[in-house]
Amino acid sequence: MTAAPGSAAEEAAAPGDVPSTPRLGVPAESLPGERRVAITPTVLSQLTKAGLEVLVEAGAGEAAGFTDAAYSDKGATIASREEVFEAEALAMVRVMALDAESPDMERLRPDQVVVGMAAPFASPDVAAAIAARGATLFSLELVPRITRAQAMDVLSSQANVAGYKAVLLAAEALPKMFPLLTTAAGTIAPARVFVMGAGVAGLSAIATARRLGAVVEAYDVRPAVKEEVQSLGARFLELPLDTEQEGGGSGAYARAVSEETLRKQRELMTKTVAGSDVVITTAQVQGGRAPRLLTAEMVAQMAPGSVIVDLAAEQGGNCELTKPDRTVDADGVRVIGPVNLPSTVPYHASLTYAKNVANFVGLMMVDGALTPDVDDQVVRESAVCRGGEVVHPRVREALGVASADVGEEVAR
Ligand code: NAD
Repeated sequence: MTAAPGSAAEEAAAPGDVPSTPRLGVPAESLPGERRVAITPTVLSQLTKAGLEVLVEAGAGEAAGFTDAAYSDKGATIASREEVFEAEALAMVRVMALDAESPDMERLRPDQVVVGMAAPFASPDVAAAIAARGATLFSLELVPRITRAQAMDVLSSQANVAGYKAVLLAAEALPKMFPLLTTAAGTIAPARVFVMGAGVAGLSAIATARRLGAVVEAYDVRPAVKEEVQSLGARFLELPLDTEQEGGGSGAYARAVSEETLRKQRELMTKTVAGSDVVITTAQVQGGRAPRLLTAEMVAQMAPGSVIVDLAAEQGGNCELTKPDRTVDADGVRVIGPVNLPSTVPYHASLTYAKNVANFVGLMMVDGALTPDVDDQVVRESAVCRGGEVVHPRVREALGVASADVGEEVAR
């Protein structure tokens, strides 16, 4: 896209100058197996209206089902990787392939704005490498969970996809069908599915399992989700535990419950687990290790053929037997530990991710100029690197950098 005739952008651009229309570059993802793309053709008009020119690396959307022609038809320029990295802002799914040694690091330049999922607590070295290049990094996992920012919440948009796909994996692995069927050859009982953790992924799993006809039960330490569970046609498992204060509290994230509460929780859930054909675990506590909800003994009580899908596999697993990216056979019970499920549904995962990114980038566009405003809570709290420094206090902590005056830095 070029500056509109007579526009301020055109007037400001002298021949030979760097174009004054800010460019958003979309490189192809380079993390092995990653099939999503950060920007889809569906959000191009939103971005161009905000005043951005969008450069998409040739083939970037192919694995997700978006051809180069689909991008160029909607106004994007198809470009080489070098050209894409010259843009003032970059949109990625996995920032720099989550690799501090990525060969792309040397393409970054001071004040270039990078937006994407950088896994800042798990890979703080990536943030440090980006800061060393002087670039600005906004990590979308850090978008605060306030109403205004819901449309930028990548954890939600991607968890929705993961919850759906977890049920499909379970249905595929289970030697039974999900729905109740009354046939001339007899009646087939519906599968019994137990969902642990009823956040975004858990609710998506409940809805999907219900659509397939399973009888679903769910548990969460936040009692506030009981009504949401019930509205999806599932039963909320009531446990005589006071988790409201301890784990539930208020706000969007659960806090870690004590080891003693977890032990009681496991004990109380054992019977439900033993009677389930499928257990889907989705429990997480922000920034920490996933709570251990299923022990080997609990798994041993499940019938052979039963299936566990552990969506917390990458965070240490909710089940003791989980191995990330593997299926473990425990005396006939299959424990599936999927990694990066959203990437296995790349079309819709990208579509929703791209909308989140476009909304976030839109926040930074003021009168056609890319102006990240740290007075905006969403921008400020998502900032990981600025001015050659890692500015996010918890990422600094993860790097072992003193955070004496970080508060001040972040505040301004
Ligand atoms: P998450 O991925 O951090 O955790 C998943 C679920 O695990 C949570 O519901 C949590 O309560 C549960 N959990 C933690 N420890 C557990 C344990 N020991 N046993 C059972 N369950 C346990 O959370 P999430 O799904 O990303 O989000 C949680 C909630 O936040 C959602 O219900 C959503 O409605 C809300 N949310 C709000 C906003 C917003 O207001 N902008 C944005 C996103 C999500």
